[in-house]
Amino acid sequence: MSRIFSGIQPSGELHIGNYLGAVKNWARLQHEYEAIFCVVDYHAITLAYEPEELRKRRREMAVSLLSAGLDPDVCTLFVQSRVPEHTELAWIFNTITPLGELERQTQFKEKAQRQESVAAGLLNYPVLQAADILLYRADMVPVGEDQVQHLELSRVVARRWNALFGRPTGERAADGSEAREEYFPEPKPLLTPTRRILGLDGKSKMSKSMGNTIGLLEPPEAIWAKLRPAATDPKRIKRTDPGTPEVCNIYHLHRGFSPPATVEHVAQQCSTAGWGCIDCKKVLAESMETELAPIRTRAAELAANPQRVDQALDAGAEHCGAIARETMAGVRDRMGF
Ligand code: SF4
Repeated sequence: MSRIFSGIQPSGELHIGNYLGAVKNWARLQHEYEAIFCVVDYHAITLAYEPEELRKRRREMAVSLLSAGLDPDVCTLFVQSRVPEHTELAWIFNTITPLGELERQTQFKEKAQRQESVAAGLLNYPVLQAADILLYRADMVPVGEDQVQHLELSRVVARRWNALFGRPTGERAADGSEAREEYFPEPKPLLTPTRRILGLDGKSKMSKSMGNTIGLLEPPEAIWAKLRPAATDPKRIKRTDPGTPEVCNIYHLHRGFSPPATVEHVAQQCSTAGWGCIDCKKVLAESMETELAPIRTRAAELAANPQRVDQALDAGAEHCGAIARETMAGVRDRMGF
């Protein structure tokens, strides 16, 4: 069975953007692949942070992931810092990654612009990401379109390391050189079907730092208080104006939460001005409640039984630690350590 790996920052409780953009898909993929999911707390320290807050957010993220449908009996969920081989392999990859390749990464350029002093860890973030994936020699990585560039770097790192340190196979490569084993498979992207969800302002990506999110575990009244004033098609000013569903974030939330027949009905009612936006949002709130109520129930159960979260993370760390140690034994041997 092919192995997939994906990571998520310990940003506290999941919001519906993370859920629709990644985690809902992970819950499906865990039944199709050997799936490893990681709360990437070493990545979280590339920007200033409070240790206590990190602990709290890591825990909240683990609870959210388990509540959202990751089943520790089916997939592996663990916390990155419990497996120190991630940073060891990242260091090794740093030694074979040209600076220019890292400086060209779009996410680095965007984040560095907002910092007065840029830590080297921010620049090397994609190298740690490559280590995360390659440590488990994952075949595929579920990604959104905006992460394809980072994954490409992981593929390049794998290719470069294999060419330098992979054992000769005794055969010739296409260019006539001595072929080397593919110790690290080049991970392929497994594109997430849901398009990126915008925040409630309808302008920027849904993100806690922008204050435009709906938390996955928020009660229905709190969700409605946020949905009611949320941005819609900006050209639909009067109730009688027909709308364009494709440009409306509420329509895209329907696509994430409502059944296909409802999504079709929304599009028809919007484009003919059959519904007002409040009617449309009420239907969305109902669809969200149908999907989110069981998630809140599971979260309440985990809050009452915190040892279940510990057990899942301990088992995940043990399983991943064993894979990581085996990978690193091969790496050390091939590199002369
Ligand atoms: S009717 Fe629905 S899809 Fe159309 S603009 Fe209003 S909220 Fe958006």
